[in-house]
Amino acid sequence: MDMAQVAPTDNGGSNRQALSDDDAAGRALFLGWATAAGCTHEVDEIGNLFVRRPGRDGAKPPVLIGSHLDTQPTGGRFDGVYGVLGGLEVIERLNDLGIETEAPIDLVVWTNEEGSRFQTSMMGSGVWAGKLSLDDAKALTDVDGITVADELDRLGWAGARPASPSPLTGSFELHIEQGPILESEELEIGVVTGVQGLRWFTIELGGYPAHAGPTPMEGRKDPARVIGRIIDRVYGVVDELGPWGRGTFAQFGSDPVSPNTIPERLWCTLDLRHPDADTLQQMEERMRDIVEEEAGARGVTSTVTRQNDSPPVTFDENCVAAVEDAVSAVGFSNHRMISGAGHDACYVALHAPTAMIFVPCDDGLSHNEAENISKEQAERGATVLLGAVRRMAGGS
Ligand SMILES: [Zn+2]
Repeated sequence: MDMAQVAPTDNGGSNRQALSDDDAAGRALFLGWATAAGCTHEVDEIGNLFVRRPGRDGAKPPVLIGSHLDTQPTGGRFDGVYGVLGGLEVIERLNDLGIETEAPIDLVVWTNEEGSRFQTSMMGSGVWAGKLSLDDAKALTDVDGITVADELDRLGWAGARPASPSPLTGSFELHIEQGPILESEELEIGVVTGVQGLRWFTIELGGYPAHAGPTPMEGRKDPARVIGRIIDRVYGVVDELGPWGRGTFAQFGSDPVSPNTIPERLWCTLDLRHPDADTLQQMEERMRDIVEEEAGARGVTSTVTRQNDSPPVTFDENCVAAVEDAVSAVGFSNHRMISGAGHDACYVALHAPTAMIFVPCDDGLSHNEAENISKEQAERGATVLLGAVRRMAGGS
């Protein structure tokens, strides 16, 4: 709740967009707590902040806990924040109990997970994992033309540590579910075994600008007319592919900005998701065919650009088992599940054994100021995280 006081919104949420002064203030608050808990810290080249609780065996690769502190513009208080502060709670609890683990424990705050201000989600972990080049990430701009590099320099977050993986014993991300399944099934913990694949696209249509009045409907090259058909048909494909398919059109724009001219350019974003790689590929291909067909039928040009490709992820069985053992040890109701949202853990999983832990959130709501979990839910998730981390890190 103290973290939620940093850049609060009118309706009870948080607005700490990546690499803003508010994001910096959130990190400073966190770093103060981590330092008070005896942790050292390092920042890497893309601003990922790593704090460390030393282990008994300094040569042992650390167990990594991580999530993010940046939020959506009208974000909630728990998305990402819960995973970071849950990790801090684990460290503080180990301190309280005087437990020394074999492996060190690293807690990371990834830079720009949300991808709302600088539009690549999971940016910091993506650079770390080698899925996004440091230069490409630094060149990303916000709507005011400010680059990631500008902000890293301004905030002093361009650290010396290379943004690349070093060996890890294991890795865990604790997160709110951001969906309704656990709540509706009245379960306390989700043992996350993998993450849906997602692809982001920009669809751009080119028409022929003309006056809205004198120009007859027939023969117009009107991208608005085409986008309507595209949206309808693509949603049809998503529905057809069963309960795990997801399709979301968002962020529409047009040129010229005028109510009485046929747009010369109209664009929108599309987010497609599926847990199965082949089906996701099929969704993309069918979407591309639809765009081409509908644009072609109206003499409109079309371009589909894939902005982001995050393949489905299957987590490490040992880490998943560590979470399951930790859950059974305390007797919380649970089941295995797939995450519908992308997380930094997807990129970490490319280089280290990884799993995630979910707690239910009210009405499954997230990316919303009303996002909420109870104290009890928060405590259960952190308890399971503690158990899983101790199992991986070893020690008494
Ligand atoms: Zn998140």
